[in-house]
Amino acid sequence: MKFVELAAYFEKIEHVSSRLTITSLLAELFNKLSPEELEKTVYLLQGKVVPSFQKIEFGMAEKTVIKAIVLALNIDKSYFEKESKKMGDLGKAVEFFKKQFISFEEKALTILDTHKELYKIAVAGGDKSQEYKINSLSFLIRQLDPLSTRYLVRIPLALMRLGFSDMTVLDAYSWMIGGDKTLRPLIEHAYHVRPDLGYIGRILKEKGIKEMQKIQPVICTPIIMMRAERLSSGKEIIDQIGECAIEPKYDGFRLQIHYKKENNKAEVRLFSRSLEDVTYMYPDVIEGVKKQIIAKEIIFEGEAIGFDPTTGSFLPFQETVQRKRKYDIIQKAKEIPLKLFSFDLLYLNGINYIHEPFVERRKQLETVIQAKGDVLKDIVVLAPHILMKDPVKIEKNFDTAIAQGLEGIIAKKLNGTYQPGARGWNWIKFKRSYSSKINDTIDCLVMGYDFGKGKRTDFGIGAFLVGIFDKRQEKYATVAKIGTGLTDEEWRTLELRSKKLESKIKPDNYYVDKQMVCDVWISPSIVVEIRADEITKSPVHTAGLALRFPRLERFRDDKRETDTTTLSELKKMLIEQEKV
Ligand code: AMP
Repeated sequence: MKFVELAAYFEKIEHVSSRLTITSLLAELFNKLSPEELEKTVYLLQGKVVPSFQKIEFGMAEKTVIKAIVLALNIDKSYFEKESKKMGDLGKAVEFFKKQFISFEEKALTILDTHKELYKIAVAGGDKSQEYKINSLSFLIRQLDPLSTRYLVRIPLALMRLGFSDMTVLDAYSWMIGGDKTLRPLIEHAYHVRPDLGYIGRILKEKGIKEMQKIQPVICTPIIMMRAERLSSGKEIIDQIGECAIEPKYDGFRLQIHYKKENNKAEVRLFSRSLEDVTYMYPDVIEGVKKQIIAKEIIFEGEAIGFDPTTGSFLPFQETVQRKRKYDIIQKAKEIPLKLFSFDLLYLNGINYIHEPFVERRKQLETVIQAKGDVLKDIVVLAPHILMKDPVKIEKNFDTAIAQGLEGIIAKKLNGTYQPGARGWNWIKFKRSYSSKINDTIDCLVMGYDFGKGKRTDFGIGAFLVGIFDKRQEKYATVAKIGTGLTDEEWRTLELRSKKLESKIKPDNYYVDKQMVCDVWISPSIVVEIRADEITKSPVHTAGLALRFPRLERFRDDKRETDTTTLSELKKMLIEQEKV
């Protein structure tokens, strides 16, 4: 098909808003195309030359596109800019000027020709690439008719906006094959496994609907990720799925890892939950995967979370999320190293595991990750995993996860399959919503500290233990160990103040669990004001309660050690929090 005919469809679609009309126009168009034309047309309809998860961008700003236009049409740049501003649309402006331009080069390019040229423009890189992009686009403008140029220039500027989603294209595929939308679920299922609209369209055209059931995952094409349902007690979980595997719910970001190794050359791609290719953002994860994965081809998933090597504690989401960035990637990777807690396997060495039960997927996953058990060195680790059928034990496990600074737990149905693109009961998340649950801050006593490792050796302190006063026992009970969130200045202040108060022996009125014992004890004196996201029950802090994501607000020099928040006040805050 000629590009001009496609442009006529673009125009029709642009002028209708009813989804049904768009669907039938698309189906009519698709029916006229060959499999290859269909594939490329679907990318162009989305203003792309490749499927959206592939990170190929045109790298042409509006200014560069204008340069190509004025070069093609031999008009004065500032005159064109002024006129196109008046029209408010670069596409319509180029069309308008093209109509007045007599071009001897105009010829009816096909969809495939045009796509091929646009593809070359998109992938061009290096020194002279801007020049190449301008010249090639300008050549295309000269060759195409006025209406076609309207849409042509919108593609590199990502301005196609024809107003329909992937789902409309799937509906149109069903109409194309069966004349109505009944085949959509089958097509959509295949699309969840391989969300490449162009590929799905081509296969439908070439081989028909039967082929949809055979669509397999492929390395470097993300699979639409499965989601979890939500419940809020151990009992509800057991009632729903019976005995299940319980895993911590890490509060970081999900990654789907695609890896293949051929002739000693390894390739890794990382995809985010929204199927964005984020490979370039996480060089440390890439290195970990290359070192620790033993497989020829694999697709697996995990949650990446920031980790404090000094204290061994996880970082709150607000810190982990700083790793999502376009610049200063290497620097941030050093400051906030990631751990990839791997929890599912989707594909391994040519075998599709999506339809296998969870226990089988997990068993295989365990065989491919090589971890040395060194918390600091291993980047890829298996998410810990315990089988449970007792609701009380599930609740306890939940409390421990919270006390460790995690978000909650995830229960996984033992024989549950991986359901791409679906939110189902095969995974159940159990977490509390805690956003701004406590409005008040808590005044705590600094009870001791641990020596710092790495960057923290500068300050001599890696983490410090804080507690509140339990009037009944007349002792200080612990509520948090804090290792992050202080400025360099605050660490220094803390060290300076602690120096005079250090003691080798734990003060008598300190009540501390052995898991929280400190390298150095500090006699009761320093009071700090702490803000936290939530108060949670805790098996490791002697107050029986812990502060989730504690942060230092300030030193309270105005308060004496007897003025800290008391345990009964903290319990009251917990009751208030439950009401939120
Ligand atoms: P949702 O995305 O709303 O279904 O919530 C589940 C999310 O929890 C997943 O998308 C992951 O990002 C995250 N997560 C954290 N730990 C785990 C785990 N062990 N298993 C599965 N998902 C996890």
